[in-house]
Amino acid sequence: MLTGMQWPYGVPLSEVPVMFDAYSLARPNIRDLKPYSSARDEFTGHADVFLDANENAFGSPIAANLNRYPDPLQRELKSAIAERYGVATDSIFVGNGSDEAIDLLVRVFCSPAADEIIVCPPTYGMYRVTADVNDVGLREVPLTPEFHLDADGIRGAVTTATKLIFICSPNNPTGNAFDREQILSIASDVNAIVIVDEAYGDFYEGPSLVGSVAHQPNLVVLRTLSKAYGLAAARVGLAFADPAIISLLNKAKPPYNVNELSQKAAIEAISQHGKVSAMTRQIRTERERLRAELPRLRIVQEVFPSDANFLLVRFTGPLEVYRELVRRGVVVRDRTREYGCADCLRITVGTPQENDRLLEALKEISAGGE
Ligand code: PMP
Repeated sequence: MLTGMQWPYGVPLSEVPVMFDAYSLARPNIRDLKPYSSARDEFTGHADVFLDANENAFGSPIAANLNRYPDPLQRELKSAIAERYGVATDSIFVGNGSDEAIDLLVRVFCSPAADEIIVCPPTYGMYRVTADVNDVGLREVPLTPEFHLDADGIRGAVTTATKLIFICSPNNPTGNAFDREQILSIASDVNAIVIVDEAYGDFYEGPSLVGSVAHQPNLVVLRTLSKAYGLAAARVGLAFADPAIISLLNKAKPPYNVNELSQKAAIEAISQHGKVSAMTRQIRTERERLRAELPRLRIVQEVFPSDANFLLVRFTGPLEVYRELVRRGVVVRDRTREYGCADCLRITVGTPQENDRLLEALKEISAGGE
């Protein structure tokens, strides 16, 4: 709801529902954009001679036949996604990683040197980088010291220039998921797009917000096949939203943004749901093993609870620990300079053998410092 403004029609403005309209929130140049129409976009019907796209009709010099451009709208992949997530195909965008969806959302909705996004540090760094690349303003509403969302702070930070609010849940690098009802209540209060980045959602046992996009027109939920689905190299990211938002993203995207090999790999991975949930369960079990073992080490001050496939750990002498781990062939992520993460390293949960290596190395480092 918009509050505190003059409204001339006799009803207090606080009682007038905000009719969210993605189209009017988009940049005027995107609203007016006549999108590039590729050869494969234009053709419908049946044909067997394709002389429309300047491809090499003789084939590929390698075993895989990659001489034809892929489906620009990834229809087969989208129907697999629709079935898996229980949503309509027109509420799905597929990108070259969810990083592409983040970039497109900023470019579609934020005018350079005028508009702003809101982020909640400590959080995923690409929101800021994408804003910086596009010369878009950034307002920070930090998480509380316990790493909870400051919902009132977010509502209070929204201005008419605010187009996007990024909420990462489970959050990278803290690992915790935020309350679903709290996020939905923010979304229903603001005239901006609330993007919930569920890149780590497959590791979280609580509810997803994907199903809520059908009745919350300013909600976008991001998922990725880079984490639980084990396809980081294929670069396949998903955005779920109202069809109005999806069609704006489709307007602005490069025509063939998801390559054929990746579309095929994604379809196959989605069909292997049993394997994915088995791996996810193992990762969660290993996460809890690390969470139980790490606090026994003298150099570990705190292990934060995690709903993701990593743990944020506060160390005594974190940079020394980092260097000593590298000397033993183990690389973790230094997060000591992130807001609220002083002395913290972020550790991805590996295989049982890799986690044993990590624990052995940390035991040695812990003993060495005595
Ligand atoms: N969101 C979050 C929170 C991430 O941590 C990452 C990758 N580290 C991404 C998005 C990007 O993922 P993708 O591989 O799908 O581009």
